[in-house]
Amino acid sequence: MSGYYIHIPFCKSRCYYCDFTSYANKSFQINSYLDALAAELLIRQSKLCSYKTTKPLHFEIPIHKFKKFNTPLPSTLPVRRRRSGGYPLPFFDTLYIGGGTPSFLSLKQIHRLLEAINLYLGPLKKFKEVTFEANPDSLSMEKIKALKNYGINRMSIGLQTTNDKLLNTLGRKTAVSDFTKAYSNLKSAGFKNINIDIICGIPGQTLQDLNQTLLHIIKLKSAHISIYGLEIHKGTVFFKKKIKSDGDMAFKMYEMARKTLNKAGYEHYEISNFARKGYQSKHNMNYWQNGEYMGFGCSAASYLNGTRSKNTKNLAAYINSKPSLNDWPPLEYSETLSGKEKLGEQIILGLRTAKGIVLSKHIFIEFKDSVEKLLKLGLVEVTPPPAYRLKGDLKIQKSRYTGQAGGGVKAGRLKIKPKYFYISNRIFAEFVI
Ligand code: SF4
Repeated sequence: MSGYYIHIPFCKSRCYYCDFTSYANKSFQINSYLDALAAELLIRQSKLCSYKTTKPLHFEIPIHKFKKFNTPLPSTLPVRRRRSGGYPLPFFDTLYIGGGTPSFLSLKQIHRLLEAINLYLGPLKKFKEVTFEANPDSLSMEKIKALKNYGINRMSIGLQTTNDKLLNTLGRKTAVSDFTKAYSNLKSAGFKNINIDIICGIPGQTLQDLNQTLLHIIKLKSAHISIYGLEIHKGTVFFKKKIKSDGDMAFKMYEMARKTLNKAGYEHYEISNFARKGYQSKHNMNYWQNGEYMGFGCSAASYLNGTRSKNTKNLAAYINSKPSLNDWPPLEYSETLSGKEKLGEQIILGLRTAKGIVLSKHIFIEFKDSVEKLLKLGLVEVTPPPAYRLKGDLKIQKSRYTGQAGGGVKAGRLKIKPKYFYISNRIFAEFVI
């Protein structure tokens, strides 16, 4: 699997807990941002296509269409190859348009964005999954219909809580009634795959508040739910106001949410994510399985050919720097992980999921002490099967444990026990080099 990510860093206002790359009061820059984004889509995708192409079918340089975005062109462009079906190679499996608030764009701007994607990344309708993030107060029926027509097949909507007072505490300029309307519009437009984001551990939030939110969503039969514990990051309004998160309460809430959602038929498939059967996020699963992805726009991250990189989060730098084939857009960093460091990262990503990771001999050897420590503490387990479970001294039993020695024993999977997902960061620390 592989996925594209596009970042839209604009919001109506800044929520008090927000640590994402998003800008309020910058609507006047959206059109220039879309120009720069179109240039990035064209240039990076073309480079990738020509890089991977060995037997070209025929070539096309869509400069005439590119010009309509009024962006200065680099003096030369690599050729693009088209499949017989008419879309450029390589074609990634999923696309996620996140932010910020993508639904904050006007209808016209949404058209421009989706046209550019159709043109440079391939037809939206060909992707296995295309997600569009939205906030309830900026999701009109007109926009919903346009998104549906273009082939968006998954919506992710930020609810956070069904308590207006708590929305106010979070600094969100929206009401629960906006959500009710937006959700009902999405359903009547035919969207089946809808994710709802909620937050636990909000200052002043009680277990009963959270329970009400959960019951509300369960009643809606939402396909997917993401639940996040409130974190206070430096630079946020909450941080400046010296608001502290209540870890114990957030833990109780997380536990309650986990049990309530499991009981209601949602599968807890990743630390923060719950889905009805068949509705796990394909795009995010690719991240956790250490698959490749390509991010476009301010602060978007990429992982290609073993190299991780991140675009600048500086909006002005992103918009104003002149597009070129090399060293553009400006990057925050680019690094190629290797050896044990890379393996550690792969383990951390995999352990985020309920399935965990295959405990290969390689992993066992490289991280033997960490694995043994976590098993002794009872924070992780290795399954299946009972016959391969460790008994007694881990060192003696290691061949059974990893399944790589001892005559064809199948490998077990290393997983975090669901009740310890909440302290996963402490577990991950064991695999950081
Ligand atoms: S809507 Fe999301 S991205 Fe925008 S300010 Fe609020 S938390 Fe941040």
